[in-house]
Amino acid sequence: MQKTKEIPDNIYDIVIIGSGPAGLTAGIYAARGRMNVLLIESLTIMGQAAMTDMVENYPGVEDIPGMKLVDVFRKQSEKFGLNFRYGTVEGISSRKEGGLEVWQVKDENGVCEALSVIIASGALPQKLGVPGEEEFTGTGVSYCATCDAAFFHGKDIIVAGGGDTAVEEALFLTRFVRKVTLVHRRDRLRATKVLQERAQANEKMEFAWDSVIKEVLGKEKVEAVRIKNVKNGEEHEIACDGVFVFVGWKPNTAYVKDMIKLDEKGGIVTDDDMKTSVRGIFAAGDCRRKLLHQIVTACGDGATAAFSAQRYVEELKGTAYK
Ligand code: NAP
Repeated sequence: MQKTKEIPDNIYDIVIIGSGPAGLTAGIYAARGRMNVLLIESLTIMGQAAMTDMVENYPGVEDIPGMKLVDVFRKQSEKFGLNFRYGTVEGISSRKEGGLEVWQVKDENGVCEALSVIIASGALPQKLGVPGEEEFTGTGVSYCATCDAAFFHGKDIIVAGGGDTAVEEALFLTRFVRKVTLVHRRDRLRATKVLQERAQANEKMEFAWDSVIKEVLGKEKVEAVRIKNVKNGEEHEIACDGVFVFVGWKPNTAYVKDMIKLDEKGGIVTDDDMKTSVRGIFAAGDCRRKLLHQIVTACGDGATAAFSAQRYVEELKGTAYK
């Protein structure tokens, strides 16, 4: 018989940071493993999956709005008894308790403690960093088509970017607007082929190839963008009512940058078991360094992270099944 360590009730086995597909999948697995687990979800950060109008490549579900899919994950996790708390995590520190490392996760409501932490805080939209972008954010510049498309009925808009998000969101926007001009810095799209075909076939879509936005122009609201051709250096203005920016994401990891190993883009470095450079802290989903950022891979990460964290906690307590 193994000797078990008594842990005070107010110390969770696992705290999960983030309520996207990675965090919620980790929650489902940890709760099914009867871990004492808390998920901290931010009210101010909307995840990439929830912002997606329609998900068509999550196996087993033909078409589902991103928001609805995330809601199903959530209901599934609640069914198994996952605890939730609203908060935006500001940092993680630690203290010793009876020889054990106890993690202290701090948000605006205070500190909660756990034997292990799963970081699944996703990614934040990358900005263009051009004049006018910040000034007009909320009054013509947007990073979320599902949130803001309805404000642009019958208008002309610009979409910046050439990846899956830019093309998918541009196609979604064509249902509302008069015309979408997609500005991309190359002469071909990065997006997956099926999206490229749909974009090329859509009569409301135009393309400004080999071009980047240099400035968002307007007085009270957005009136135009100044774009530059990266091949010949020529610049000109395109009149528009709104600018949607989809030029990638940056891992939401600033709050752990001084304690966990990150790659040059800010992605948390993990091994195959989702272990980070710090013992007892795991990472899953778009906040970590990985090749393919998809809902299906985020779920795989979340399941693995929960399994690893559970094994870590049970080894600490002396209850592991060996
Ligand atoms: P992404 O794949 O990183 O693409 C970003 C795009 O923005 C690229 O075309 C890039 O140009 C361009 N870009 C980057 N910085 C720029 C700048 N400063 N100025 C102008 N253009 C710039 O990002 P994403 O499209 O958001 O996709 C992120 C991940 O989510 C990907 O793994 C994607 O597959 C996934 N995703 C999947 C789906 C789906 O499966 N349905 C939907 C959405 C997203 P370059 O091509 O020249 O680098």
